[in-house]
Amino acid sequence: MITVSHTRATGGSISDCIEEWQSPKGRASAVGRCATRVSYGQLTQRYKLMRQAAQREGFADRFHSVPLAVSFDPQWNYDLPQPHSPRHSRTFTNPQGQVQGTCIHLGTCDIGCDVRAKNTLDLNYLAAAESAGADVRPLHRARFVRPVVDGQRYEVAFERIADGALEPGTVRADKVVLAAGSLGSTELLLRSRDQYATLPAVSPALGSRWSANANVLTPDIYSNPADVQQTVGPTISAGLDFMDGSVAGQRFMLEDDGFPNFLLNTVNAKLRSQWFSPFVWLLKRHLQRHVVSNNPCR
Ligand SMILES: Cc1cc2nc3c(=O)[nH]c(=O)nc-3n(C[C@H](O)[C@H](O)[C@H](O)COP(=O)(O)OP(=O)(O)OC[C@H]3O[C@@H](n4cnc5c(N)ncnc54)[C@H](O)[C@@H]3O)c2cc1C
Repeated sequence: MITVSHTRATGGSISDCIEEWQSPKGRASAVGRCATRVSYGQLTQRYKLMRQAAQREGFADRFHSVPLAVSFDPQWNYDLPQPHSPRHSRTFTNPQGQVQGTCIHLGTCDIGCDVRAKNTLDLNYLAAAESAGADVRPLHRARFVRPVVDGQRYEVAFERIADGALEPGTVRADKVVLAAGSLGSTELLLRSRDQYATLPAVSPALGSRWSANANVLTPDIYSNPADVQQTVGPTISAGLDFMDGSVAGQRFMLEDDGFPNFLLNTVNAKLRSQWFSPFVWLLKRHLQRHVVSNNPCR
């Protein structure tokens, strides 16, 4: 939960960014600063498979690298000794003063990057918001919203999770922005309308026609997993652009999609804790060697 009691006038504030994003010219420049593409020396196996498929199907002109909110070091490549070792991630301080690292193709974009190569909200907009005066309150679960007596202000009721218990509290503001995701925001509004009856005028259409982003996952089967290397590299790196609506009037993108190596990540997490076992250490070495030596990108 984020509360803003005042904003300091600082250059490059969030509102500046929003304004920049609202104009097509500004958006192009903002993307140029924030998003990068996988460089030629770092193309993943999935990228190459997708490019091959596009060429075979006659869609080579629709194939491109997608812009990613990830920081890359152009010097990194699959031929480095132990390429996924954190020692190859170069650290730098981003414009918000947060320390980040460069991508070493750990394949964990979906579950959190160990070297902070993803330009995530906490390292960017939230950090910028905090330095502009916003108060970020972790472990606070908003429950419902209600207008306060004069109707000009709103009160958000929350529960703070502390020592295994829930401590109730409230906070008031002139403006409340619900940004709890499509599920969280819908839940908050449903509770406010139906459970607490604090926002009775919320539309009966709320929550209907919800969809999971209209995503369709289409798996393919390869007899040798090394041909795909699904657990290595940025989760998405390539796309086929059909946004012109030329196929049956539908506008869509096809993208490659990786999947984290959960076993290797579990073993790594275990070894980072105080707990140590020679068996787990050997298992980690085995899994890592398998990932690196079987990668056709080398
Ligand atoms: C597996 C996966 C992969 C994805 N990959 C991509 C991708 O490659 N590219 C892309 O563009 N998009 C991707 N998306 C979609 C993208 O993540 C979402 O569109 C985006 O995160 C939505 O942002 P948001 O701020 O609206 O909500 P969220 O990012 O969901 O943030 C909502 C926040 O509100 C908090 N919250 C919820 N309820 C409450 C409450 N009651 N009180 C307090 N806090 C609450 C949540 O904990 C969360 O931190 C992916 C999504 C998933 C699940």
